[in-house]
Amino acid sequence: MKGLMQPTQLTLVHLFERAERYGRDKRIITATATAKVSTTYGAWAERTRLLGGVLDILKISKFGRVATLAWNSARHLELYFAAPCSNRVLHPLNFRLFPEQVTYIVNHAQDEVIFCDTSLWAILEPLMSTFTTVKHLVFMNDGKGEAPASVPGVQVHEYESLLQQAKAAEWNVTDENQAASMCYTSGTTGNPKGVVYSHRSTFLHTMAEMLADSLGVRESDTILPVVPMFHVNAWGLTHAATACGANLVMPGPDLSGKAIADHIVNEKVTVAAGVPTIWMAVLPELKGRDTSSLRAVVCGGAAVPKALSEAYREQIGLPILQAWGMTETSPISAVCTLNTAEQQLPVEEQAEIRTTVGRIVLGVDFRVVQPDTTTMVAWDGETSGELQCAGPWIASSYYNDSRSAESFTKDGWLRTGDVAVVDSVGRIRLVDRTKDLIKSGGEWISSVEIENELMSHPKVKEAAVVGVPHPKWSERPLACVVPKDGETITKEEIIAFLTPKLAKWQIPDDVVFIDQVPKTSVGKFSKKTLRDRFADYKLPSA
Ligand code: ADP
Repeated sequence: MKGLMQPTQLTLVHLFERAERYGRDKRIITATATAKVSTTYGAWAERTRLLGGVLDILKISKFGRVATLAWNSARHLELYFAAPCSNRVLHPLNFRLFPEQVTYIVNHAQDEVIFCDTSLWAILEPLMSTFTTVKHLVFMNDGKGEAPASVPGVQVHEYESLLQQAKAAEWNVTDENQAASMCYTSGTTGNPKGVVYSHRSTFLHTMAEMLADSLGVRESDTILPVVPMFHVNAWGLTHAATACGANLVMPGPDLSGKAIADHIVNEKVTVAAGVPTIWMAVLPELKGRDTSSLRAVVCGGAAVPKALSEAYREQIGLPILQAWGMTETSPISAVCTLNTAEQQLPVEEQAEIRTTVGRIVLGVDFRVVQPDTTTMVAWDGETSGELQCAGPWIASSYYNDSRSAESFTKDGWLRTGDVAVVDSVGRIRLVDRTKDLIKSGGEWISSVEIENELMSHPKVKEAAVVGVPHPKWSERPLACVVPKDGETITKEEIIAFLTPKLAKWQIPDDVVFIDQVPKTSVGKFSKKTLRDRFADYKLPSA
């Protein structure tokens, strides 16, 4: 017997119309390169419909890829909806990738048009001749840089004048399973891989972000997505904000700790989200300021050091809210909100729980399995295995990529490449990424665990641990440490600090002091770069 409910399609048009109807007076603030500008969802919705008309003027094909090379801004949000709601596919470009990777993803996605902030033109200009499918270049003046009058091989346009010529579009998306947007992974090994989100997956992921036990995004929020809009669609926060008419604060190009702290204080931000390195830089800038508006500092994308979360709790009264996800998972899939019983626990036990990524979000299923099996490891908090996911906003394959075979199991689950353990109540603790684990003798050493301890040292600003080759043990850990400004610290002090906290075989064989931990294109610690840098490092024990 079938249910007798209507087969309404879950599309972004519905999210857009919520903002248009109910969010009309709510604000979208953008910090451009030179000014702070404010608009409303009402004005934004009118412009977004016009932008739909612009895509028709440019004759962008059905499902044609509309690339953006832009900072987080209200205008970028216009593209976020105009492309999918007019049956095109949004493709935000990560402009911090290596140039040849940008070429790869533009050509692989077959982008027809690129909407480019003038301040980012310098990045795009040398690559234009490498693009094979781009026909139009639309410049968006963001207060810095200048648009050229012409560019060989493409038609050049100016965003605002195109809007003036366009007629408002009527949206008509009839299939919830059609593509809405695509993001590429940041490609730490090999070329980036394309993940294609559907209207349905985005709709459901948006609703999942509104669940009270996940991020609980709601109308009364003022949301600051520090995470770039090219990084897994700003973790879905701009969709969720639009759908419920929450105020948005778009940080533009200045992502310094001071600028982010200023937005939090001045705009009375309630929810802000970014990778750990962002929150490390912001905390000192919040000292002594009024942060009472904040209800969630969302952090994910890389291991969240316990010391960082605790420093937030101690300084501003709000620990970090850890979330886990990937480009392939839209991304939000696990969130570490504390349940009723956990909230009654002593502070130290709560802090320990916050070092996990929490429970899987309603709608997503997970399993942690031994290699090449489909059987869940024991939920004992100790037995590790590979974390795998399934669900309506989890990728089922990569876009036109033979590497899909490696990343999806025969029974259709996503292999995350993360090693995890599950405790007796189902909380997931990430041990490490498979490729960052240090294989020492027969044991695996979690680089994350050592980093967590290192970063709790009062004189340590940042630390990353990588495996370096060792003749006897195959690999041994090397600690790469950045002391806090004005502090000096010795190798002996660090080893003495770690000794009571870790098993003997986990203690790094050596400590090197570096100026900063290299970062990936999305601001995470780049352990690959460190591994390459120290590949020939001679450990004293070797
Ligand atoms: P990339 O793989 O290029 O870094 P993603 O942003 O998709 O791009 O990264 C997903 C990965 O980030 C996950 O597989 C996991 O290793 C890591 N990650 C995400 N959230 C967390 C978290 N809360 N703690 C530890 N690692 C995390």
